[in-house]
Amino acid sequence: MSSTLIVGGTVVTASGTLDADVLVEGEKIAMVLARQPGLAVTMTADRLIDATGMYLLPGGIDVHTHMEMPFGGTFSADTFETGTRAAAWGGTTTIIDFAVQAKGTSLLATLDKWHAKADGNCAIDYGFHMIVSDVNDTTLKEMDACVEAGVNSFKMFMAYPGVFYATDGEILLAMQQAARSGATVMMHAENGIAIDQLVAQALASGRTDPVEHGLTRPPELEGEATSRAITLAKVANCPLYIVHLSARQALEAVAQTRDTGQNVFAETCPQYLWLSIDDLARPDFEGAKFVASPPLRPKDHQDSLWRGLRTNDLSVVSTDHCPFCFKDQKELGRGNFSKIPNGMPGVEHRMDLLHAGVAAGHLSLPRWVEVASTTPARMFGLYPRKGVIAAGSDADIVIYDPQARQTLSAATHHMNVDYSAYEGLEITGRVVTTLSRGRVVIDDGTYQGSTGHGTFLARGLNQYLL
Ligand SMILES: [Zn+2]
Repeated sequence: MSSTLIVGGTVVTASGTLDADVLVEGEKIAMVLARQPGLAVTMTADRLIDATGMYLLPGGIDVHTHMEMPFGGTFSADTFETGTRAAAWGGTTTIIDFAVQAKGTSLLATLDKWHAKADGNCAIDYGFHMIVSDVNDTTLKEMDACVEAGVNSFKMFMAYPGVFYATDGEILLAMQQAARSGATVMMHAENGIAIDQLVAQALASGRTDPVEHGLTRPPELEGEATSRAITLAKVANCPLYIVHLSARQALEAVAQTRDTGQNVFAETCPQYLWLSIDDLARPDFEGAKFVASPPLRPKDHQDSLWRGLRTNDLSVVSTDHCPFCFKDQKELGRGNFSKIPNGMPGVEHRMDLLHAGVAAGHLSLPRWVEVASTTPARMFGLYPRKGVIAAGSDADIVIYDPQARQTLSAATHHMNVDYSAYEGLEITGRVVTTLSRGRVVIDDGTYQGSTGHGTFLARGLNQYLL
């Protein structure tokens, strides 16, 4: 069993910072030793890493990714291999990806299919959520088997009629089933029935540019669907997690409900914190790069979202990483915004874009770690194996240089996509080294990992339930 000693760094956790050295033995953290003046402790290890001036963070956990996901006749551009490698470059050491049930197929067969895609291909550890798109007696029974297989979060859609859309009745049934086993239902909360009418009206009147994607999905319809999902969850007594919350109206519904003690949680994503509908309105079809659902909102929603992160009404920041290349994929929607594949790349830059929020005074250092690693671990049953730097936890450790400057660009990123949503953005802070279960994956600008190092994580239940 090889050992690594990381000296001189500042450990940042959800509860604060500590000047400490960290000893890793094999795949686990063996010791976190606070440095104290006058106290000299000699430790030896096979490998010494000098982290003077650096932060030591628990590896990032991105609970919302879509690698090689089928969408509208094409696939998202990152495979599990390229996507997990890019994640590691950005200091993320665990992803939870979505297995997608196609209508008429079984949940367990779907899970097998996603295992086959990921198994042996990932640079970092991974788990799955299950997208339930076909609610029937068989599916409902299979949900319990999924929980036993370590997949205990089920995503449903109030958007995308004819594809993933579930009726209120179907949602209620699935929530009741999930509640029996303690599983969490994750909701894409937008009123897809109303949105489809607005989309049809726009197209009929010749409004076809990418910005129409945003204008036909107004924030009120996210607020309405969020409230409806919360009500259904209350009736079913089921834990609810709102994915990729983007609108102030939806945040207000979540905040009010959390005050009542109901088990309702929400995440947002960096694109909603840093980008806006102005990007969707970029000329010459460039706005297509920013098409995702829910859409980017007017800028004034951003302050509400940052505040929601501080007050814990937003508990997690994930990426909803779902990259489509501009050429040949986004271009499918030239002349018809509704044909633009929905999704944006982001798995590589979540930690950096949140650190930029720390630098801008939106978040504290411990809160950065909490929303990016510790809370995701607890929310999705991985804590304390993941999400913390402590003896006994997996040695998923990121050495982060808070002073380094970097410019985000498609020319230098590692995601398998031909554009960056943040092209030319200069930010402060950068990953220097990423360890996954004690193994150095990224070291000072070089990739040293291997496909197949990442293992499947069977997860426990949400640890926040009241
Ligand atoms: Zn998604």
